[in-house]
Amino acid sequence: MSDQNSTATTPGDGDREIGVAVLGMGNVGTEVVRIIEDAAADLRARVGAPVRLRGVAVRDLSRPRKIDQALLTDDPVALVARDDVDIVVELMGGIDPARALIRAALENGKSVVTANKALLAEYTGELASAAADAKVDLYFEAAVAGAIPVIRPLMQSLAGDTVERVAGIVNGTTNFILSAMDETGADYADTLAEAGRLGYAEADPTADVEGFDAAAKAAILASIAFHTRVHAADVHREGISSVTSEDLAAAKKFDCTIKLLSICERVHAADGTESVSARVYPALIPLTHPLATVNGAFNAVVVEAENAGRLMFYGQGAGGAPTASAVLGDMVMAARNKVHGGRGPLESTYAALPIASIDDVQTRYYISMQVADRPGVLAQVAGEFAKREVSIAAVRQEGAQEDARLIVVTHRASDRAQSACVAALEDMDAVIKVSSVLRLEGTND
Ligand code: NAP
Repeated sequence: MSDQNSTATTPGDGDREIGVAVLGMGNVGTEVVRIIEDAAADLRARVGAPVRLRGVAVRDLSRPRKIDQALLTDDPVALVARDDVDIVVELMGGIDPARALIRAALENGKSVVTANKALLAEYTGELASAAADAKVDLYFEAAVAGAIPVIRPLMQSLAGDTVERVAGIVNGTTNFILSAMDETGADYADTLAEAGRLGYAEADPTADVEGFDAAAKAAILASIAFHTRVHAADVHREGISSVTSEDLAAAKKFDCTIKLLSICERVHAADGTESVSARVYPALIPLTHPLATVNGAFNAVVVEAENAGRLMFYGQGAGGAPTASAVLGDMVMAARNKVHGGRGPLESTYAALPIASIDDVQTRYYISMQVADRPGVLAQVAGEFAKREVSIAAVRQEGAQEDARLIVVTHRASDRAQSACVAALEDMDAVIKVSSVLRLEGTND
């Protein structure tokens, strides 16, 4: 099906072909290659020219794969440099050599499609500049929330609106674990092990469970939503490894569940200035919130914009075929631009808003503590909250004697005030241990 000897395509060719190089043939690359081959006639009609696979780069050439062996190479540098390649689809993952390969492709006038969130969270600026200089496309719809279209709606459909907030569940592994813990009452370690057995968690789950993956996606979303460059390091990050089955059970009693949320927010200060808050943490959300019903490996993103109001995007956030769908959408756009001229939008960072400190972010809190079972403890605890002007919305007392627990849900307070409050509680004789501090999101009070 490939034509290794076809010549380079140039704009305006009547008989032109669009040559595609795919870097990586793993979960996603395998599906991308399959669709390019199976849907060749449709792709040709949609692009306005045949789309030809020029080659597929892998690390291990000896592994059996469903592809014409002649298309495989372990030399991605040479593949990217070929004159008959118009579009490079990077699906290798990681920073190196993906970064250098994408740069080389862009600098040589090839458009690039990538799903590589780890790379984009650090280097979108560098890659977008290279794409702008070479007047080619850089698309990355698949980098956030797999099959779900969220990058293009933010970049294009909402280009005339002012986005106030993007909040979502963008990591399927952690959502699977928290949903399963909620459903079964099992603890974190057992549920993580089960997620590994079922293929929902990697052998090293750190990137998922400690929130690194969700933070990279938050950085990408915040950069686009607020026209401001946000890196992964700008994102406040907490993972789910300290969420307990007791927290999930307590959340239920407050008509809530717990989800790992990626939240990107435009923060308006009293003096009229604006900043960007990007943060990832497990949070209680009311069962009536649209994100509360997103279970298992599914993802969802809620966007709130000044004029559009609330929009919700929901679907499969990972997996070979769903992710390949988003990659192919980008590839078709890039191919059409090669055939008909024009370019898609690149990142815009004109607003350059400062990054808000987590200390200043206002949210509600759920604080669970083990306390001495004696009269007056509740009043003492309430006193510590009052001293720091953290207002209490609800209190539950559970258990007795050694197992006495106090759960406090607050009204909105700054992270700074809440942290001071927790430090004071930990110093109190009556408080044996502050066992959990989680945020409560998705309510208006
Ligand atoms: P994967 O299964 O690990 O596949 C990676 C592929 O890249 C393999 O074919 C590997 O070759 C090849 N590769 C790696 N390093 C290479 C090198 N130095 N030279 C040549 N080939 C190399 O990864 P994946 O799950 O498909 O993910 C690909 C990208 O999509 C990542 O950026 C990921 O974050 C992103 N993504 C994945 C999903 C998903 O559901 N999997 C969802 C959204 C985004 P071998 O086959 O020979 O090892």
